[in-house]
Amino acid sequence: MNTMKNKVALITGASSGIGKSTAEAFAAKGANVVVAARRKEELDSLVASIEANGGKASAIKTDVSNAKSVEQMVAHTIKEFGRLDYAVNNAGIEGKLSGITDLLEEDWDQVLDINLKGVFLCMKYQAKAMLNAGNGGAIVNIGSVNSFLGFPTGSAYVTSKHGLVGLTTSVSAELAPQGIRVNLLCPGITDTPMHQRLRGIVGDDLYDKGLLPTVHLQRVGRPEEMANAIVFLCSDASSYISGSTLTVDGGLTLTM
Ligand code: NDP
Repeated sequence: MNTMKNKVALITGASSGIGKSTAEAFAAKGANVVVAARRKEELDSLVASIEANGGKASAIKTDVSNAKSVEQMVAHTIKEFGRLDYAVNNAGIEGKLSGITDLLEEDWDQVLDINLKGVFLCMKYQAKAMLNAGNGGAIVNIGSVNSFLGFPTGSAYVTSKHGLVGLTTSVSAELAPQGIRVNLLCPGITDTPMHQRLRGIVGDDLYDKGLLPTVHLQRVGRPEEMANAIVFLCSDASSYISGSTLTVDGGLTLTM
């Protein structure tokens, strides 16, 4: 079903995990896709696989924490495909997990620069392009269950994800009157390279016996399940949803 034919989707953090699945999901709906991240080789092979399946895609090496790089990412999108309809601000890092007394200033800055400032920069340039074109649009930022819940050693990551709630609701209030909806998708535990790294730090035992039983669905989520919800938040099926947080976590945040 090519319901997004002739539309253009820009996805950051598309070289891996949720972002990669999201790019594939948009392409499957017929959208032209721009994929952005720092690792260009991974992006190039994603573009090749989307094109092998009959889609159209383009890659741009981007560091979302750098304003110039983000401005170039949006300019590349307009140059390649002439418009921007959907933007998914998914790039993120877990950073170095560390107790507050040991957390280094540079480690705090790196997480906040990518996860929070990066989303601000992306929306700044994406919104300019969408407003200039006057076609409306949809922006989905990627938060986390840690947009609501903290955990020990996670203060930088958790703060960055909490910040996205305020950033998303404020920008929705600015842009929705002009036809651009802005929402926050909050994934639960999702099987990606980030998840595998965190599992390695926390340990299989704590993951399997401590964390998984708190998920109502009793399993880890799949990247495609996040991608489906992200595509929904961009589609006309969610035309009255803006400024919202959608938690896709199998029930994790509802458990005491
Ligand atoms: P991955 O580590 O698999 O992917 C992260 C992506 O972000 C990569 O493509 C990486 O690409 C990109 N990225 C990181 N830093 C930058 C940067 N400075 N500029 C551009 N791109 C960057 O993680 P996930 O797919 O799991 O995570 C995606 C999002 O989902 C993140 O925001 C994460 O916080 C969130 N999330 C994930 C959960 C999970 O359980 N997996 C749970 C809750 C939220 P590259 O290195 O090539 O730049």
